[in-house]
Amino acid sequence: MQRRALLKLAALSTIGLAGARATASSTPSIHNKEPITMNDVIIIGGSFAGLAAALQLGRARRKVTVLDTGLPRNRFAGRSHGVLGHDHKPPSDILAEARQQLARYPAIRLLNARADSISGTIDNFSVLTGDGESLGARRLILSYGVVDQMPAVPGFAESWGTSVIPCPYCDGFEVAGQHWGLVWSGPQSMNQVRLFHDWTNSLTVFADGHDIAPDIRADLAGRKVPVVDGRITGIARHGDHNATIKLDTGPDVAVDILFAHPRNKPSANLHETLSLDTVNTPTGLAIKTDERRETSMPGIYAAGDLANPGIPSVTTATWQGAMAGIFAQQSMLV
Ligand SMILES: Cc1cc2nc3c(=O)[nH]c(=O)nc-3n(C[C@H](O)[C@H](O)[C@H](O)COP(=O)(O)OP(=O)(O)OC[C@H]3O[C@@H](n4cnc5c(N)ncnc54)[C@H](O)[C@@H]3O)c2cc1C
Repeated sequence: MQRRALLKLAALSTIGLAGARATASSTPSIHNKEPITMNDVIIIGGSFAGLAAALQLGRARRKVTVLDTGLPRNRFAGRSHGVLGHDHKPPSDILAEARQQLARYPAIRLLNARADSISGTIDNFSVLTGDGESLGARRLILSYGVVDQMPAVPGFAESWGTSVIPCPYCDGFEVAGQHWGLVWSGPQSMNQVRLFHDWTNSLTVFADGHDIAPDIRADLAGRKVPVVDGRITGIARHGDHNATIKLDTGPDVAVDILFAHPRNKPSANLHETLSLDTVNTPTGLAIKTDERRETSMPGIYAAGDLANPGIPSVTTATWQGAMAGIFAQQSMLV
């Protein structure tokens, strides 16, 4: 069999493997048995941002390996919204379709593997996988996303993505006009209160131990938004949306949906070991990039939620991934 046909077969095998898993996979990786040659780009994290980068690079016929552990941030949500052409589809379906489409490109290899460490410099990076494989590349794209850190409140993690959600653009339409709750996380929560008016006139704020300043309380009262003081001690989920919020003081409060913004952190610490520059966000940090999506280390690009200090979404991750792929490719032109 010709080398090109062999490569395509290997790519199809690994894509098929990845496409079969909806969330995390314990299925062992199928590695390309070809002798390892230098990749143009290794992409770490093969979800919305990473696959968008791979698509641009594969179309430019650049040799790409995507490493992915199969845990996209929105895996807790039954459906993904606001994504043009894919609205109201399960996120795992969108990703599976993307992986299938990448099978057209023989230079793209998708591996179900974790990147454990990075070394080297531009034009000669090495990535060590969890399976002990060492891969080389001229450029790297970091797209390994973030992990939402669930507070130690019984029922919170179990309700995440259904009764407790972060983003009105993602899921607000489906519960518009209903009774919403908002877990206060600081003065920035006032922006959420103003935002939510476009979806509902029935909102309750849960202070959850935060001191809410008198002027903000007056503003909330003027908007007819009640504030429930006390700490949240538990969340009981009923069906797909409704939840009962249990408090350390006062009676339980029922809402149709609860919005919360737990802190998050990048899904891996590779950027830390490389000492890449970061910026603070209201809920964590983001890897700093320039307008070409290059990080503070030449040859390393970043895209998606882990490099987005603004509004994270599938669409922004996809856009950033595509840009990272294009700029990484253009940086290798002779
Ligand atoms: C509950 C919830 C619902 C949401 N709903 C919507 C919605 O309806 N619409 C919308 O637009 N957005 C929604 N979002 C936001 C959306 O999930 C993110 O913006 C999007 O997933 C970001 O894509 P990404 O590629 O940057 O990261 P992710 O999708 O999080 O993917 C990162 C990938 O990197 C992999 N990875 C991590 N570490 C490593 C490693 N060391 N080696 C290899 N691979 C690794 C992970 O397994 C994962 O597959 C929602 C978020 C949440 C929390």
